[in-house]
Amino acid sequence: MVGLARIKWNSIHAKLFATYLMLTTLGTTLMAGYILWSFHAYFMRTRQTDLENWTVALSESVADALQEQDLQRVDLLVQRYGAPETVTLRVFDPKGRLLTTSSPEVDRQIADWYKIAGVREALQNQLAQGITKGVLSTDDRLYISRPIIRNGQLLGVLRMSITLKQFQRQFARVIWTIFGTLVLTIFLCALISDRFARSLSKPVETMRNFAIRVGSGHFDDKLAIRQSNELDRLALELNRMSERLASLDQERRAFLANVSHELRTPISNVQVTVEALRSGAAEEPELRDRFFQTVEDETKRMSQLIRDLLDLGRLEAGVTQLEQQNISLRSLIERAVRAMEPRMQTLGVSLAVDVADLQLQGDPERLLQALLNILDNAIKHSLPNSQVSISGRKDGKHALVKIQDKGPGISEKDLPRIFEQFYTTDPSRKGSGSGLGLAIAKRIVEAHGGSITASSTPGYGATFTICLLL
Ligand code: ADP
Repeated sequence: MVGLARIKWNSIHAKLFATYLMLTTLGTTLMAGYILWSFHAYFMRTRQTDLENWTVALSESVADALQEQDLQRVDLLVQRYGAPETVTLRVFDPKGRLLTTSSPEVDRQIADWYKIAGVREALQNQLAQGITKGVLSTDDRLYISRPIIRNGQLLGVLRMSITLKQFQRQFARVIWTIFGTLVLTIFLCALISDRFARSLSKPVETMRNFAIRVGSGHFDDKLAIRQSNELDRLALELNRMSERLASLDQERRAFLANVSHELRTPISNVQVTVEALRSGAAEEPELRDRFFQTVEDETKRMSQLIRDLLDLGRLEAGVTQLEQQNISLRSLIERAVRAMEPRMQTLGVSLAVDVADLQLQGDPERLLQALLNILDNAIKHSLPNSQVSISGRKDGKHALVKIQDKGPGISEKDLPRIFEQFYTTDPSRKGSGSGLGLAIAKRIVEAHGGSITASSTPGYGATFTICLLL
């Protein structure tokens, strides 16, 4: 019961508790009421039947005596079967005058018998029975008034009444016993309901506190709810959610650290170069041109990085609205190849293109960007005078585009991670890449409902496969 004092009355616990308690109270009260009612009805019915049977037998004997005008015998019968207070017997003549009674002291005080329940009806040849107050008392009595008829002639009326006092006393005792049992049952039900309601509301409360902790950034907590029901499954999902949030938080931190690192390098390079120019390098034309070139390269790298970051951010947030156009795969790849031609010539890399004439749906500029990012890598990593091959073919309901180079390939360790943001196989990060190219390509392809995979045999080159819906 200590627990009950702590209940907040608008909580789930309180509502469950109140519902259980109300249902058990209602159920037990209805049952107790029904038991009492049937007990009362059964008693009344049997007493009434007893009265009927007794008066049938007695009225025959009284009829005999009345026919013989033997009033003494009538009186004897009445005295024999009547009992003080409990059973009262009266016999009236056809005019309603009292002939004899088992309770003469009381009856002497009654002047008009017509007012007594059942007498008038019986004098009119009707059987009357029911419950009424005692003739001069307030006790409830069960009575029956029976006309005594012989050969169609009314000889008189027999009225018998029995007290209900003992029964009512007994019945009151039963009511109190049942009431006591009811209170005890409800009390026990309250205790059990409290436990039961707590077993359901406690996990909800624990999950609420867990959600609050997760909401305030504590992702390391774990929920341990050992119930094999929906709550258990909900706890499992909440744990999964917290794990996912923890990993997203980790990714966010890593992303911020990478962005600041990637931006710091070109900025400090520019700063150092500008300082060198200011402190005399500008005087030497050759040095000055090299330094200006450095400033230009680093600025380009920064703006490329910022553009990539913006692209990635938009793709991640889903704010980039992809156009849905009919695209010819062949012309898309031709555009990518044209854009890469000057670089290929500089690096002495040749290209073999074999693309089927396939039509697909999508955003041409975005898909071009994805192709360029992969092609750029293939050219960048190709050995001098080697060949990059691009093929495009139909595979069921998909278009498969393969870009294959003959460079050093990608090690087994790097292969699963190359699509991650900022992941680069160049530990010194001196190259032009920032590790965003493949991450952007993957998001673009996935936004088109496609997929992108890489395979490689180190030393023999790498193959990137883009799979797009036709
Ligand atoms: P980056 O801008 O650094 O090139 P990417 O996301 O495009 O970043 O590539 C991620 C990593 O995968 C890079 O470090 C790159 O070295 C490696 N990579 C990508 N394509 C190839 C390839 N064709 N051959 C070898 N390594 C590759």
